[in-house]
Amino acid sequence: MLQKKALVIGAGIAGIATAIRLAVKGYQVNVFEANSYPGGKLSQFSNDGFRFDAGPSLLTMPQYIDELFKLAGKTPADYFNYRQLYVICHYFYEDGKSLKAYANADKFITEAESVTGEPAAGIKKYINNSRRIYNITNHVFLERSLHRLKTYLRWDTLKSIINLPHIDAGRTMHNANADYFNDQHLIQLFDRYATYNGSNPYTAPATLNVIPHLEQHYGAYFPEEGMYSIVTALVKLAKDMGVTFHYNSRVQEVVLDEDKADGVKVNGQLIKADVVVSNMDVWFTYHRLLKDYPHLHPKKILGQERSSSALIFYWGINKQFAQLNLHNIFFSADYKAEFNHIWKQNNIYHDPTVYLNISSKYKPDDAPPGCENWFTMINVPANTGQDWNTLINTARQNILTKLSRLLGEDIAPLISCERILDPRSIESQTSSYQGSLYGTSSNSRFAAFLRHANKSSKIKNLYFCGGSVHPGGGIPLCLLSAKIVSEWVD
Ligand code: FAD
Repeated sequence: MLQKKALVIGAGIAGIATAIRLAVKGYQVNVFEANSYPGGKLSQFSNDGFRFDAGPSLLTMPQYIDELFKLAGKTPADYFNYRQLYVICHYFYEDGKSLKAYANADKFITEAESVTGEPAAGIKKYINNSRRIYNITNHVFLERSLHRLKTYLRWDTLKSIINLPHIDAGRTMHNANADYFNDQHLIQLFDRYATYNGSNPYTAPATLNVIPHLEQHYGAYFPEEGMYSIVTALVKLAKDMGVTFHYNSRVQEVVLDEDKADGVKVNGQLIKADVVVSNMDVWFTYHRLLKDYPHLHPKKILGQERSSSALIFYWGINKQFAQLNLHNIFFSADYKAEFNHIWKQNNIYHDPTVYLNISSKYKPDDAPPGCENWFTMINVPANTGQDWNTLINTARQNILTKLSRLLGEDIAPLISCERILDPRSIESQTSSYQGSLYGTSSNSRFAAFLRHANKSSKIKNLYFCGGSVHPGGGIPLCLLSAKIVSEWVD
């Protein structure tokens, strides 16, 4: 029997994972990637002796990565190694308070109680609620397609559906957190989880209070060789399974034969396949690769609000800071005002919350001796044509002033090299519409249902994976999208 052929458009994390899964199913798989390297948003670069992971810096749910090696009959540790973090994040507040989020729940609760004065019992109740939401939602919203009848015929799905009234979808994340706690520091800490999928805690449903459970219960991790080693390990596995990668190969068109995808056009050449999977942002898939078929565009889905984007300064710093950890947050004094600027005024608040990631804390060769590699990020709106040069210059100054004040040291003179990533460059480098980090936002309680399905309902043989489709953005969910696609493909 002839081997079936699959084409994957894009070598983002979901595209690579889909390629592996389809190869395991017996498909001959070719991946076409526009860039000269794999990984998409998950990329890296070196500058003046410093190495930087350019995109994701927090690894959760690494079991979904291990699963790919096991599925292929390989030993994960032969390809990819990681360690669990003892302190997940170090939070700093404008009033001088700081709090370490320990991975161990009891230790975290003790720390949170002593810093914020919130009773341990209330924090425990909150964490239990987060687990309860996860147990109800994961079968329905994360691990399976919402768009297949088969999903709804399973007993565990039905059980989850019966329990849906208990997932707290009727109020916002912030309102729920403010009901649980009196202390503003803790409310802000838990509100921040909305940013894990580029949303706004003041409008996103409290169902998203499930996210702390993923981090607290399953842990946070650091890959021994840095975040980009996720990509190198998975590409190696894919190649070992016979997948072929074509770089500098931008797909120009999905070629249709009546109502079915027949293949793709790359460099003017038609390449035929039985299955076409787009890992490209779904908005651009329709607007660039299927632009001649506007009647096939799911306009309502494509018109949804996008997730937020990011502004990142990659700084080589000529000093080491003992008080900093791998993940650090310097909170804004007024979180509501910050989100209003991002979501309503479409610009950047003068006192943004700053996320500072320093991989050289765990991987010393990421920086020269005595130095640190600072990945300094703030959340910003998606790109709708703002005057980014002005916004970036002002934000840079505000970030430096804030960090200098809270760390008690003038930071600007310590910067030995700099690169910047902003919504425009995220969009141009990864074809992510408006430079959004996580596809569409989760600001509405219907967001999960309005995300694009993993299979086209109008074009046969066309599938979708990655952060812009179900179940959403972030590495773990992208890996789940690959799983859902491979289970759907015959
Ligand atoms: P993408 O990474 O979007 O890649 C798509 C690929 O398709 C690209 O390589 C692109 O070049 C290619 N492509 C596009 N068009 C074409 C075409 N026509 N032909 C061929 N190829 C094409 N997630 C986390 O889990 N933890 C984090 O800490 C985290 N932090 C983040 C920080 C930043 C700054 C960013 C940008 C993202 C972050 N994320 C994080 C989100 C995470 O990176 C993404 O959700 C995930 O990597 C998206 O993967 P994807 O499979 O959707 O593909």
